[in-house]
Amino acid sequence: MPLWKCQVCGFVYEGPQPPDKCPKCGAPKEQFKQLSDQEAQLVLRSRKTNYLHMKALTLLRELLAVAEEIIQDNLDPPCVKIANEEKEFALTTIQKIMAELETHMKKGKWG
Ligand SMILES: [Zn+2]
Repeated sequence: MPLWKCQVCGFVYEGPQPPDKCPKCGAPKEQFKQLSDQEAQLVLRSRKTNYLHMKALTLLRELLAVAEEIIQDNLDPPCVKIANEEKEFALTTIQKIMAELETHMKKGKWG
């Protein structure tokens, strides 16, 4: 099934024809460009990876909240030390994922 990309907002639509108007920005169908086979394959291949990265982001944000709760709980210094390490790991990894997703978007591995 062909992929169509809205040239106004980047919304990707899958279907035999472009939609009458963009579901996201309302642009008319003339604003949709059909992706080449190579472009479409790049989008389709990267979707699973991008979704997994986003799932990891959700889990890391949960880890951040848990680490914060452990720090507040403050049972003893070893607990707080572990929680600070968890927090540092989560923050750094979140930023690594964000940077990676940005490169995916720039390389057409998105949509
Ligand atoms: Zn649009």
